[in-house]
Amino acid sequence: MTSVHRNNRPGNKSPPPDASIAHNPPPRQRLAQVRVLLPVAVAQAYCYAVPAGMELAAGDIVRVPLSARQCTGVVWDGAAPADSVSEARLRPVGERIAVPPLPEALRRFIDWVAAYTLHPAGAVLRLALSAPEALQPPPPRIGYAAADVRPRPMTRARQRVFAALAGQSPLEQGLLLARAEVGIGVLRGLERTGCLRRVALPAAHKGDEAPKFRLVRENGALSPAQESAALVLRAALAQGMPAGQQGFLLDGVTGSGKTEVYFEALAAALAAGRQVLVLLPEIALTGQFLQRFQARFGVEPLVWHSSLSKARRRDVWRQVALGTARMLVGARSALFLPFAELGLIIVDEEHEQAFKQEDGVLYHARDMAVARAWLGGFPVLLSSATPSLETLVNVERRRFERLCLPQRFGGARQPDIEPVDLRRERPPKGRWLATSLVAALGETLRRGDQSLLFLNRRGYAPVSLCQACGERIVCPHCDSWLVEHRARSCLLCHHCGHRRALLRDCPACGGEETLVACGPGVERIAEETAGLFPDARIEVLSSDGISGARGHQGAIGRIAARQVDIVIGTQIIAKGHHFPHLTLVGVVDGDLGLANGDLRAAERTYQLLHQVIGRCGREERAGRALLQTWMPGHPVMQALAQGDRDRFMAQERQSRARAGLPPFGRLAAVILSGAVEERVRQTADMLAQAAPRGEGFAVLGPAPAPLRRLRRRHRWRFLLRARREVGLQALLSGWLGRVKPPSGVRLVVDVDPYWFG
Ligand code: ADP
Ligand code: ZN
Repeated sequence: MTSVHRNNRPGNKSPPPDASIAHNPPPRQRLAQVRVLLPVAVAQAYCYAVPAGMELAAGDIVRVPLSARQCTGVVWDGAAPADSVSEARLRPVGERIAVPPLPEALRRFIDWVAAYTLHPAGAVLRLALSAPEALQPPPPRIGYAAADVRPRPMTRARQRVFAALAGQSPLEQGLLLARAEVGIGVLRGLERTGCLRRVALPAAHKGDEAPKFRLVRENGALSPAQESAALVLRAALAQGMPAGQQGFLLDGVTGSGKTEVYFEALAAALAAGRQVLVLLPEIALTGQFLQRFQARFGVEPLVWHSSLSKARRRDVWRQVALGTARMLVGARSALFLPFAELGLIIVDEEHEQAFKQEDGVLYHARDMAVARAWLGGFPVLLSSATPSLETLVNVERRRFERLCLPQRFGGARQPDIEPVDLRRERPPKGRWLATSLVAALGETLRRGDQSLLFLNRRGYAPVSLCQACGERIVCPHCDSWLVEHRARSCLLCHHCGHRRALLRDCPACGGEETLVACGPGVERIAEETAGLFPDARIEVLSSDGISGARGHQGAIGRIAARQVDIVIGTQIIAKGHHFPHLTLVGVVDGDLGLANGDLRAAERTYQLLHQVIGRCGREERAGRALLQTWMPGHPVMQALAQGDRDRFMAQERQSRARAGLPPFGRLAAVILSGAVEERVRQTADMLAQAAPRGEGFAVLGPAPAPLRRLRRRHRWRFLLRARREVGLQALLSGWLGRVKPPSGVRLVVDVDPYWFG
């Protein structure tokens, strides 16, 4: 077994600047042994012997034995070390799979992500081999040809079958069914009676041909600000970026036309023969958004996200690898697809925390997109109306050039934003909407316009409380309250998904009907609104239900078609939608996101509320937003009301710089978890003993995690805080290398944590 050969420098956030893609794979040569990286949780590539007659090169996808089973892996770079196992004892590679090799740039990216996030390279490789079906030979295709015998009776349906075959024979089964407009039973019957012959057609995958994009813009001229931004982007794509620069920030208020600008950059990269990738938060991958691509480029883009079917994953993966997919719109894992000619990545809504992967390999897709682009030697474009502090500081540091679109396109104004001081305008008990918000809803309704009420809380009520004994109903597996979902008539844990029937009597004191719902969720706001406006058509949108974002297509369509008067939604409604008749936004609880107080709480609340408010007044009629808050003086509410993003971000910048928090210092979390709390705590003590000491960094903890129990596991945390110049990864791997957690205790490293629960 060999050690990993890493072509990178752990602890240095910038990838090697001299990396460039090798577009032409090196010639295959006769190797005696190869290193094969397997998609399992190990860091090392294993050595295998190459059987006589097989020629392999780095990137080739192969089948190899791994203990008793066969496993798919990738021939990794670098020679097997001299001291490796003698050739005679090595197990041989089984076969080479007939798909294009994993491109060099992707292999370097996998190594880089592994080194940066401190996850095993094999676990990162698994993200790239995420469509195992793509590596299987394509399924055989069945076709039918007409025989000499004709059936009796010759029905209409049968006639249509022979008419279709008169045009082309043999014909693929699916096509024949469609053209003859018959069911499969008709074909089977004809085959049984010898009137049709079944034939095997040459196997082929769907979409093995590249689509033709419309590259020239057809929908109106760009505004001067758009044009000058597009000019800079086209130049960077043609000539490369200035030395030291990694990409661009496209910074403009919602509705300023950022999407239209990056479409120009996409068109330029496509015209130059490169593949392009647009990363979106998963929740924003909506039909409405994809239709815009289709309208602009004349072709529907390929999409990649977690709920694609296996068959779809297989097709998309293959098309990307073969290069027939030129434009892909995807969620964060699309970064690991085997693009060989990638030439531009767009990260839309770059400030979104949803880009942080919180399971398995913990990575931030925006940051990894920057690394992927750097390794490939092409630009990355981050787009947002509310850029993250990280990105703004990268503009200061000249890693990104900022391109500004200061105004809404076509003269639409930013909505007027008025805080509603809940201390003065307290809604009656059991109600959540203040009088001025109710009045504004009524006015909007009378005008025939649409309103949006925003509350980032699913369900009916976040807590069920016993009025007799004070008991709150909690999840049996987590330290969290069960949320009442009246529409689904259950109590639900939002952390682990545990569900139980609604309760009326208190399980603790046995009190009869003593449980009451405390606080509002969107369902409760809908109930209140329906009581106030019995004739209004109300639609609730939240990420409830199995179908997730795509299940909402219908609701989105009804809103766009003006079949809805009042939309009540969680953050699912905040992203990407464009509703021309929406002129009022009411934020039910502006303070909600500030409660948990992690380092980005204020920034995130500002971004989310800004985005929600940006949903209204996007066309001629002005929008208005009412922001209910108990803290009208809070910097977030002030910044929103005054429309002064830059001053707010300057304050954020100052307080983070003073505290040495990201992006002015570095953070990594180490999370221990296990079913037996005592063992978790003992492991935490061992780690504390082994913690590094020195200048420029500090290990904080161990401490029980705020969410002390999650999915039946007890959790303890450390936080490593370091100055920016400290090699965080080296420090961590040294430290964690000294302690081996006992079985039953899991250790997870989270470099650049965003969730502190
Ligand atoms: P953003 O991405 O900044 O939120 P969009 O690109 O969605 O902004 O633009 C807002 C609206 O203005 C959209 O309806 C878009 O079609 C329209 N728009 C933007 N730029 C142009 C343009 N140059 N010509 C015509 N319509 C435009
Ligand atoms: Zn739970």
